[in-house]
Amino acid sequence: MSALWTACLQHLEKTVSAQEFNTWVRPLQVHEELGTLLLLAPNRFVLDRVKAHFLEHIENSLNKLNNGDKTQVLLQVGSRKKILDKTLSNTKKVASGRGGKGKNAKVLPLRSSAKTSGFFNHSPSNHGRAHIVNSPLNAKFTFNNFITGQCNQLAHAAALQAAENCDFNPLFIYGGVGLGKTHLMQAVGHALGQLQPNSRVVYLHSERFVSEMVKAIQNKVIDDFKDYYRSVDVLLLDDIQFLAGKVRSQEEFFHTFNTLIEGHQQVVITSDRVPGAINGLEERLKSRLGSGLTVSVDPPPLNTRMDILRNKAAQSAVRLPDDVAWFIADNIESNVRELEGALHRLLASARFLHQDITLDFSQQALKDLIVTQLRVCTINDIQQVVAEYYKISVEEMMSKRRHRYIVRPRQMAISLAKELTQQSLASIGNAFGGRDRTTIMHSCKTINSLKTKDQELRQDYQNLSKVLQH
Ligand code: ADP
Ligand code: MG
Repeated sequence: MSALWTACLQHLEKTVSAQEFNTWVRPLQVHEELGTLLLLAPNRFVLDRVKAHFLEHIENSLNKLNNGDKTQVLLQVGSRKKILDKTLSNTKKVASGRGGKGKNAKVLPLRSSAKTSGFFNHSPSNHGRAHIVNSPLNAKFTFNNFITGQCNQLAHAAALQAAENCDFNPLFIYGGVGLGKTHLMQAVGHALGQLQPNSRVVYLHSERFVSEMVKAIQNKVIDDFKDYYRSVDVLLLDDIQFLAGKVRSQEEFFHTFNTLIEGHQQVVITSDRVPGAINGLEERLKSRLGSGLTVSVDPPPLNTRMDILRNKAAQSAVRLPDDVAWFIADNIESNVRELEGALHRLLASARFLHQDITLDFSQQALKDLIVTQLRVCTINDIQQVVAEYYKISVEEMMSKRRHRYIVRPRQMAISLAKELTQQSLASIGNAFGGRDRTTIMHSCKTINSLKTKDQELRQDYQNLSKVLQH
């Protein structure tokens, strides 16, 4: 068993109750590959429980034990024996010459010293799919599962294109944390793997590139290291900003990169910023990195956040009520990873407690993630949320159009603005496309009177009001 995992277990044993530890944590088996710790749960039930209650704990312990170096932890149902059996049968296939060789692939010289160097151990073991020879791609990071909006449309289109041909080489995707860079890059890998089943797709994080290289130098197999990375069909190098300041790694990568580009082998790179802004990167590398197509992923707006939540819930076969989707999407704005974290927490809590996913339950379940103090909302918030609720655009809401499907939402928004903000009638009027006080008062009156007669409208009003205040 991995020494790291053993240390982690000792750490966890001290921090969770003995019963919890024995029931949920002890049954996990561990398989270490490429610095990724694969935790294998005996069944779905244990997996869900570990994911909801212990995973974060485990990751924190591992990071601490690893001096802050992030260990990637993957959780899946399975057993070590199955994995080892599969690896063995794939190794046999490779040995008998049926391994995946891409159009440009070379047969790697498996010198005995090289075998111990680390990077050859990641031979085609990926669920029997020979084209993936390095860190496994996350099966969920596909184009199908990627939700697009204005914030990422261009990056998405460019990635699709890169998966079809090498016109954009390298494809450089940049943006803040948790906005889908790794997802998109791996989607390219999946798509290429499907289009050209024999191609060799290699995904790795830049930190991994550095550590593999250091290992290769120590083991005196640097030539094999070079051959290895230069012989792939697709190289997906994640978070290249980690190469900043690492001169030797940059040098190595620069040559590998050039070879790949010249050989029309697709390269996709991600970073938290544009190439030119990565301090500590050699100028020539910066300029080469920007020589293909550079695209950004930006934070998703409210409607895209809601689409993402609904889509993720649907993947777990759950239909997320609209007010719940609003509540989460409206409160978690920073990044998709956090959005996803909140949703997972909610779904797991509902499952374990056998509760329906209502707004009240969600507020309770997420109370430490989302501080539900009454919030001051702005007219702008109200316009956006109400427009989204009624599936009209904010422009329509502000317009002079008198179509019923626009008038009612407009009156709702005005009435909510009157109730939830401290703004005067005049400034509300202003904010709604320059309407006068009487129009604003009329809207409020209409809604108040409808609330007493129309149950559906009353419910809508309550939903909106709740969402806007939390
Ligand atoms: P980054 O690499 O930019 O830090 P990731 O690609 O790891 O972010 O994305 C974080 C999480 O959010 C992943 O689980 C990913 O699937 C999800 N995610 C990000 N953007 C989207 C999107 N547009 N549609 C669906 N899921 C997304
Ligand atoms: Mg990433």
